[in-house]
Amino acid sequence: MARRCPFCYEKVHKLASVCPHCHRDMAGQSDSSQKRPGGIGLCSGVVMGLMGIATGALAVILVGFLKERQKWEES
Ligand SMILES: [Zn+2]
Repeated sequence: MARRCPFCYEKVHKLASVCPHCHRDMAGQSDSSQKRPGGIGLCSGVVMGLMGIATGALAVILVGFLKERQKWEES
């Protein structure tokens, strides 16, 4: 059961993740992309949300810290 490389169309082992002929990455070109429909979108959405919360919290902390430092420098 060999499949063909989508780039050079040479026969490649079905479990190969890199084509031995043109050395291009074949991962996600066939069945692996069908296993997770919409999973990536949900995951990246959660990650983006967490990133937004994290950066927001960091900005608040940083601004508060700078204000406190200004007070210390003024007094
Ligand atoms: Zn190839």
